[in-house]
Amino acid sequence: MRVAVIGAGWAGLAAAVQAVQDGHTVTVFEAARTPGGRARGLDITLPDGRSVTVDNGQHILIGAYTESLRLMRTVGIDPDTVLQRLPLTLQFPDGAGLRLPDWPVPLDVLAGILRNRAWPLRERLGLLRAALGWKLAGFECADTLSVAELCATLGPRVQAELIAPLCVSALNTPAAQASAKVFLRVLHDALFAVRGGSQLLLPRTDLGALFPQAAVAWLQTQGATVRTGTRITTVQRDADPWQLDGQGFDTVLLACSSTEAARLAAPLNAAWSATAEALHFEAITTVYAWAQNARLAAPMLALRHAALQPAQFVFDRGQLGGPAGLLACVISASQGERDALQQQVLAQARAHLGLDLQAVQTVVEKRATFACTPGLQRPPQAIAPGLLACGDYVAGPYPATLEGAVRSGVAAARALAR
Ligand SMILES: Cc1cc2nc3c(=O)[nH]c(=O)nc-3n(C[C@H](O)[C@H](O)[C@H](O)COP(=O)(O)OP(=O)(O)OC[C@H]3O[C@@H](n4cnc5c(N)ncnc54)[C@H](O)[C@@H]3O)c2cc1C
Repeated sequence: MRVAVIGAGWAGLAAAVQAVQDGHTVTVFEAARTPGGRARGLDITLPDGRSVTVDNGQHILIGAYTESLRLMRTVGIDPDTVLQRLPLTLQFPDGAGLRLPDWPVPLDVLAGILRNRAWPLRERLGLLRAALGWKLAGFECADTLSVAELCATLGPRVQAELIAPLCVSALNTPAAQASAKVFLRVLHDALFAVRGGSQLLLPRTDLGALFPQAAVAWLQTQGATVRTGTRITTVQRDADPWQLDGQGFDTVLLACSSTEAARLAAPLNAAWSATAEALHFEAITTVYAWAQNARLAAPMLALRHAALQPAQFVFDRGQLGGPAGLLACVISASQGERDALQQQVLAQARAHLGLDLQAVQTVVEKRATFACTPGLQRPPQAIAPGLLACGDYVAGPYPATLEGAVRSGVAAARALAR
């Protein structure tokens, strides 16, 4: 079949790779000049004049991202080279926080929780009791429950140092508004889906080089066409049967953002379009900041955050293949304006890390992810016969993540064969 993929984010590229492997003739259309969508490289200039490539936002992968890792290998990227694998750690600058040893599940979780003496014994036992309850319930709960409600019985230290940072980093939605069902699914897959699923995989290269650029190169060597800088404005049913800005295709995969997909699909399936349009979004802000002597105790640290100290995590890009002294401070579910956030983060770094950092670049991605709230209706894969959607927002068990996007892309391409 002649397959058109609209969007060269991680979902569209995953779909294109799968479609090529299944023998289809694939054309990818991407509005931007570079592929990668919300997970792409970005060039910045350091205070000393050096030009470096970072990301539009610091990302973390975990060991449970099996489809992303598989596709990286397919397009010639070795995950062991480009990703630094660490046991799950939520360590704060003062040394407190959870650290799982590299042992099999559930021993790693038991040991990590029990050995964390910074938490009162009562809280540690309360967490183990709750975790056992979640396991016995098959990591399922009511669709309407929030993460805050699910974890209401847990102690304040566990809530502040484990649940809040895990929830906001995985779902990009604060615990009070986040879906407990999706949170439990993430916990389940991180802990039980594959050995090492909970391990953190920190990129040692920019996100463009992690997958999108190699995927484009691979697609081209396989005979697929990738047209960057080409925004599709209409998708029309025709005798061909589909016309995209004058070109004929047998099948179309919408792999663009939910808002663009809603616009393109509106004349073809108004109900689908309305569901996609109803999604709300959360922002993520990444403050890249630099100081000659800046070096963290670990490549990634959690930060105690509050309204005026908004960053939840800080990454040492110098320990992750980047220039020494460059830190990436991340504010998930961020609110407020760029300049104010940047000033607050610099003050937070002074207070929490003892570092006088100079801001290099602050990136606010206003529509970073959909708000992953309880009972959320997400649009399904099928829009019309021969017209499918893929992307991190399409109905599925995961929050808006690279793995969610990739799995949705692969699933949509496989559905073409049916
Ligand atoms: C700052 C930030 C931090 C994040 N951190 C993490 C993290 O740590 N871990 C994690 O797993 N996930 C993280 N995410 C989420 C992750 O980046 C997304 O879930 C994923 O990139 C979504 O991919 P996608 O292909 O579904 O959509 P997109 O990346 O949005 O791709 C859609 C593509 O379609 C193109 N397009 C749109 N309209 C058209 C059109 N009409 N014609 C042609 N092309 C079009 C766009 O230009 C874009 O390239 C983060 C996201 C952000 C923004």
